[in-house]
Amino acid sequence: MTAQVLVVGSANADLVVAAERRPGGGETVLGGDTETLPGGKGANTAVAAARLGADVALLGAIGDDGNGRLLLDSLRGSGVRTHLVRTVDRPTGVAYITVTPDGENSILVSPGANHALEPADVDGALDGARVLVTSLEIPLTTVEHAIAAAADAGVLTVLNLSPAAKLADRTLAALDVLVVNEHEAAWLLGDRSADPAGLLTLGPSSAVVTRGAGGAVVVTADGTTEVPSPEVEAVDTTGAGDAFAGALATALADGSTLADAVRSAVRVAAVSVTRRGAQPSYPAASELQ
Ligand code: ATP
Repeated sequence: MTAQVLVVGSANADLVVAAERRPGGGETVLGGDTETLPGGKGANTAVAAARLGADVALLGAIGDDGNGRLLLDSLRGSGVRTHLVRTVDRPTGVAYITVTPDGENSILVSPGANHALEPADVDGALDGARVLVTSLEIPLTTVEHAIAAAADAGVLTVLNLSPAAKLADRTLAALDVLVVNEHEAAWLLGDRSADPAGLLTLGPSSAVVTRGAGGAVVVTADGTTEVPSPEVEAVDTTGAGDAFAGALATALADGSTLADAVRSAVRVAAVSVTRRGAQPSYPAASELQ
């Protein structure tokens, strides 16, 4: 028996260093002290859902190392069920993040253990789940198998197509909710100014396009709904998309309509951008009043 919300995704240690500028090829630049924070799209999404009170499990893979223990502590401390987090013989995934004074991030991800997450790991994990949420810092074959198996089992399927990757048509067609940011939407549609409604022609039953401070757009067969974001002073948008996905899944597992789930997700993501970091910035349900 697993949780009502099953997240199939990555767990990474984020190694964050501030620098005046990012190094060019063959160059060495001195930066500030390194901060090591729990991250990865899967772990972030699961933590965001757990903070809101969801019954949530992460299916993921970590290494037998300090970064893996950091991630397990953060997941468990937030109330994520970790019985489906496998420890494998590869280092825990690491994201090397350079932050420059203009607030711009450059990120190099070393997937490590995340690449050991196999399609077979999904089998059995979906029992009892209402919603599957997955994203693409793990092998594509595992994402595609998870979506197919969930659709077969009648579990609602949500894919955060990040980082963008080409999926099989049958995978897109098995999706209940495709979540993309504006760049990913433009990449899928081949045109920055294309109508988001075009996403449905790719196969999913519905789609959500997140638009940063502009909130989100919901596209269903019934039409397009714009959901504005509350106005907030953003201090750090790291992991805002994952907060959005976790909140969306939580509301969908509670039986909300997609439009209501997106209204909840923009509120949660708006709070997350007012605080530093990804996981540490995610609000509890009681903070949303
Ligand atoms: P990230 O890569 O930063 O995790 P993303 O690129 O996947 O995010 P965005 O569209 O930038 O996705 O942000 C996701 C959601 O977070 C938005 O739909 C919005 O609800 C919220 N959000 C992001 N930036 C802001 C902001 N400046 N003010 C309010 N809400 C924001």
